Amino acid sequence: MSAHSLESKLAILSDAAKYDASCASSGSTRRDSRDGSGLGSSAGSGICHAYAPDGRCISLLKILMTNFCIYDCAYCVNRISSNVPRARFTVEEVVKLTVDFYRRNYIEGLFLSSGVIRSPDVTMAEMVRIARKLRKEENFRGYIHLKTIPDAAPELIAEAGFLADRLSINIELPTDAAVTHLAPEKDPTQIRKAMAYVRVRMQGATDRSHAGKRPPRFAPAGQSTQMIVGADASNDATILGQSTRLYSSYGLKRVYYSAFSPIPDSSEILPLIRPPLLREHRLYQADWLLRFYGFGLDEITGVTSDGNLDLDIDPKLAWALSHRGLFPLDVNTASREMLLRVPGIGVRSVNRILSTRRHRNLRYDDIARMGASMRKARAFITAVGWTPGALTDRADLRARFAPPPEQLRLL
Ligand code: SF4
Repeated sequence: MSAHSLESKLAILSDAAKYDASCASSGSTRRDSRDGSGLGSSAGSGICHAYAPDGRCISLLKILMTNFCIYDCAYCVNRISSNVPRARFTVEEVVKLTVDFYRRNYIEGLFLSSGVIRSPDVTMAEMVRIARKLRKEENFRGYIHLKTIPDAAPELIAEAGFLADRLSINIELPTDAAVTHLAPEKDPTQIRKAMAYVRVRMQGATDRSHAGKRPPRFAPAGQSTQMIVGADASNDATILGQSTRLYSSYGLKRVYYSAFSPIPDSSEILPLIRPPLLREHRLYQADWLLRFYGFGLDEITGVTSDGNLDLDIDPKLAWALSHRGLFPLDVNTASREMLLRVPGIGVRSVNRILSTRRHRNLRYDDIARMGASMRKARAFITAVGWTPGALTDRADLRARFAPPPEQLRLL
């Protein structure tokens, strides 16, 4: 192996990290050093590269510690049998890069993942050393997200939780069978065990002692996971069902869906049959409806006969179009639960509708001013001075929202 400069390592290891979707920093409590007590602030402003789910714009140095790996996960470009350029940062190099980039205001924090070198414990211990050095020696108060290796010793995961803002443990694939087939060195039971351990430690960190003393913080921005979609034959109902179980069992902040990118020399992987990025986008929309809009899994995935989301239109619109008998809804009398089901009307608009209609009846223009997308909502509501008439039941209503069919290219 030729020796790499720090710049070329950075090029290799930041490129290798781009397949990891789980790096948003929502929900972190503030570590603030603006009083001069340290370096950095997890909630400060800087150059922004990503939006967290809470709307905050953040930038992170997102790298792998190394893309050497002793495992052979069929869906991963860094697997041992893959012929990619390899590099490895030292602990000191990652610390220096993070601090230098932070000082130059390029980043607000670090997202650190890694291939597995020698053993899960050795790898996790190195990652923990990086976080420890940043926190204890550099007094770094910026955001740290550590990707946790599920087979690592609980003491290492525990220390990672005390140092990082967020931990994530990848569930990898939608079913245990797919993990066993495509990532033979990984154990789905061990992955869930590690998630459960993190949850218990997070809960323990919220209990005050009898004397009212706060315990040390443990992953205050919570834990998340990533699921690769499109590398196995699971349909969207299976994927979302797995997410629903993960949210409720392990208190996850977020399940990240990562569209599988084809790897040329992997014979194990299915050919791509659905546009991966569009599928990923629809899964995020459906996930949101399940968590914040009161939809049930069967409602979202029962719209099509194969359990997959309609890729042409968003899942709420797809549901409303197949339940037109429930519409139009009168925005002046409909319940909160039903208003949340109107396409084009989000949680914030629903809250505004509910508070305003206590004082007066709402007109069509009022709903538009409250931030609703009337292009979608108009067929599903009535308001003072507005009724959709026959629009709700028109046979071509779906076609008005779906993109026009494209001519397939033959060559
Ligand atoms: S453990 Fe699997 S997914 Fe992670 S880097 Fe190694 S081969 Fe890739």
